[in-house]
Amino acid sequence: MVLAQESPNYVRLSKAADTSLGFSEGRFYRDAKLYCINLLLHYQGGCRANCLYCGQARDVAGSSECKTLIRVEWPLRKLDEVIEKIKRTLGGGGFLRRYRICVSAISNREAVEGEAEVVGRIYEALRIPVSVLISPSDFDGEEMKRLGELGAERAGIAIDCATRETFDLLRGKPARSIHSWESMLKGVEKAVEIFGSGKVGIHLIVGLGETEAEAAEIIQWSRDVGSETHLFSFYPESGSVLERWLRPHIGQYRRVQLARYLIDNGFVQRKDMAFNERGQVVSFGLDTRGVADIIDSGEPFMTSGCPGCNRPFANERPGEMIRNYPFPPTAKDLRAAKKQVWKHVPPRNSLRNLRRYLEKQHPGSCAEPSRSTDLHGR
Ligand code: SF4
Repeated sequence: MVLAQESPNYVRLSKAADTSLGFSEGRFYRDAKLYCINLLLHYQGGCRANCLYCGQARDVAGSSECKTLIRVEWPLRKLDEVIEKIKRTLGGGGFLRRYRICVSAISNREAVEGEAEVVGRIYEALRIPVSVLISPSDFDGEEMKRLGELGAERAGIAIDCATRETFDLLRGKPARSIHSWESMLKGVEKAVEIFGSGKVGIHLIVGLGETEAEAAEIIQWSRDVGSETHLFSFYPESGSVLERWLRPHIGQYRRVQLARYLIDNGFVQRKDMAFNERGQVVSFGLDTRGVADIIDSGEPFMTSGCPGCNRPFANERPGEMIRNYPFPPTAKDLRAAKKQVWKHVPPRNSLRNLRRYLEKQHPGSCAEPSRSTDLHGR
C-alpha cells in the first residue's frame, strides 16, 4: 500500500525556506537572509475554507493539486528531511542562523492532530522557538494549550481583514466559506490567555477594502487585548477570486506600517491620530520631528512578525519596491519611504469598489451587507 504524501510525514515549505535549506536552487534579491522556516500542513483533501484571496481556497484548489499560498509555490517535502536539514544549519555558533520555525495549519479535519504532531516532532528534535499559525475555526482553547505543551511558544492568527464587513465578504458565509468574525476575535483573546501577552500576533492584509482608519482600529484592538499585528500588503494570487483586485497604493501601505509600529510600540494610540475624509492618516499623533526620526530608524517598514520571521519577498516580486523589508532599509529606501508616507492618492480599493468587483467576479457574495461594529463591543 502506498501511503499518501501528506502531513504529518510531509509538509510544504515556503519557496524561500526550500531554497535556503538547499532543497532547491536560488538566491534572494538584495542578498536577503531567512531566519524563520515556514512550513504548511498538507492534506489530499485540501482546505475546506474558501477565502476569496487565497490560492488554497476550496473553489480555487478543487483538488489536492493546489500548491500555492501567497502566490508562490510551496514544495512538498518529507518532515524528517526538513528537520535534518534545519539541524545542519543550527550549529557553528554563528549569530545569524535559523532562529524560528513556523507551522501553519490549513482548515482540514485532520489538521488539528497533524499540527500537534508536526510541532511535537520539530520541537523534540530541534528545541528552537516554534510558532503556530492557526485558525480559531479549527483550534479551540484546549487545542491551543496542547500546542503550547508540545513546544509552541507563540501563535499567529490570520484575521487578514480589518473589519467585519470585509471579513464576511471575503471569508464568511457570503464567500461560501467557514469562518466567523466573532470566533476570530474570541480566538485571539483565548490565544493571549494561553500563550501570554505579547506572544500572539494577528495577521492583517492591507488593501482588502478597509480604510487606513479601520486598519488602525483593529491594530489598536489587537494591542489592547495583548496581541500585536503582523502586516501584509495584498498581492493578487492568480486563480483566486481576487486575482484582478488592486494592490494597495504604496502610500497606503507605508502609512499603515507606520501606524502599526507606533501603536504596537505604545508611542501613540489610534485615538491620537487624525484621518481625512477618505480615512487616510494625515497625522500620526506625534510632531513632525518625531515622525521623521521614527521613519529614519527604518523599523516601521521592516517585516513585522514573530521574532526572526522576516519573510523575504512574500509581498512583492524581486526587483519591485519592497513593501516589508527583510533587512534594514538603506538611506535611499528611507528617502523613498518618507515621500510615500506623505503622498495621499485617492484609494480605489474601497469597500464599495470591492463589492462591485465581487458582484462581477463572485456573484451572490454581496447579498447581505454586514452590520458595522465597535470592535470592543463586537
Ligand atoms: S509572524 Fe511569521 S512566524 Fe509568526 S505566525 Fe506569522 S508567519 Fe508564523
